[in-house]
Amino acid sequence: MCGMKNETTLHVQSGVQMPATVNADAVRRLRQKKRALLSVEAYVAGILSGNRSLLGRAITLIESTLSAHQAIAEQVVSACLPHAGASLRLGITGVPGVGKSTFIEALGKQLIGQGRRLAVLAIDPSSARSKGSILGDKTRMDKLAVSPHVFIRPSPAGSSLGGVAAKTRESIILCEAAGFDTIFIETVGVGQSETLVSSMVDFFLLLMLSGAGDELQGIKRGIMEMADSIAITKADGENSKQAQVAAQQYKNALHLFPMPQSGFLPQVLPCSALSGKNIPQLWQLVEKYVAQTQKTGFFQRKRKQQAKYWLYDTINSRLQHKFYENESLKSELKQLEHQVLQQEISPFLAAKKILGSFGL
Ligand code: GDP
Repeated sequence: MCGMKNETTLHVQSGVQMPATVNADAVRRLRQKKRALLSVEAYVAGILSGNRSLLGRAITLIESTLSAHQAIAEQVVSACLPHAGASLRLGITGVPGVGKSTFIEALGKQLIGQGRRLAVLAIDPSSARSKGSILGDKTRMDKLAVSPHVFIRPSPAGSSLGGVAAKTRESIILCEAAGFDTIFIETVGVGQSETLVSSMVDFFLLLMLSGAGDELQGIKRGIMEMADSIAITKADGENSKQAQVAAQQYKNALHLFPMPQSGFLPQVLPCSALSGKNIPQLWQLVEKYVAQTQKTGFFQRKRKQQAKYWLYDTINSRLQHKFYENESLKSELKQLEHQVLQQEISPFLAAKKILGSFGL
């Protein structure tokens, strides 16, 4: 009997999945490493012809920490820049479970039906901290992903949210050069990520659940102020009425805020990705915003401001990186920190000293 038991445990039972004998993640990384690098021209030609596979590979180079990869990526981004800028960039944010991926599938399907080409880039704040991923792990937007007119890319794990976002900013350029005229930047609402996303999109859409308090959704006033419009999700079935009430409440709340610089009064729409309710209306809203802000010049001004923001943000982060990664400064800094804590030297003099050692 005992023998039989042993025998059965050696066999895979139907319906029971055998654990992988090799680490799939490691295999993927190895494959990526092995994959031959192409010339800058080959990546650029592939991207400009709309080749999604080469676009994905070029974005992998942008995300890579290897300097050889970064050198190619920089040249690819520069070559693509003259072909970029002609898309509509939409930021979509909300707490996990609010319905972001379902919403993007519904709206995305509608847009590709209208002949648009859609790229969805996700900035995942969880990856920066835990190396786990809220957005990337589950198979998301699988119906949309099979369309040849769609490119979906979750963000990689990174050491900082700002770093991941900077790479997304560069990826937008490649996606636009590849002919994607609509770019969705999706992020989980945690506060910091919204500021980064709003610095790279034309229109910022906040998804909210009805019935859950603002506290519960972690939505801060500043984020609501950033939103160009709000969609109350899952406005179907029993939830319809509640969503309608929530929409009115948010509308009232928004009226208390000063008029945004865009000159566009944010709207609140109850939407359902399942029934399709108000999904076309929501897109009409985005188009109205674009038409209005292009007419006033705000649209172009905002893009210029964003480019300026990324210039200084990149300078700051590169300087910081060079400073803090400088091996010879590390021990001096530790020593100065100790002296500051012992009140042997003022923080200001300590800063002056170490910056002096850095050549500043
Ligand atoms: P995300 O974490 O914000 O991307 O949320 P998901 O899109 O994964 O949705 C979370 C859950 O809400 C899933 O179980 C969806 O089926 C459900 N859901 C999403 N959109 C709707 C909707 O419009 N109506 C209803 N009733 N459920 C929805």
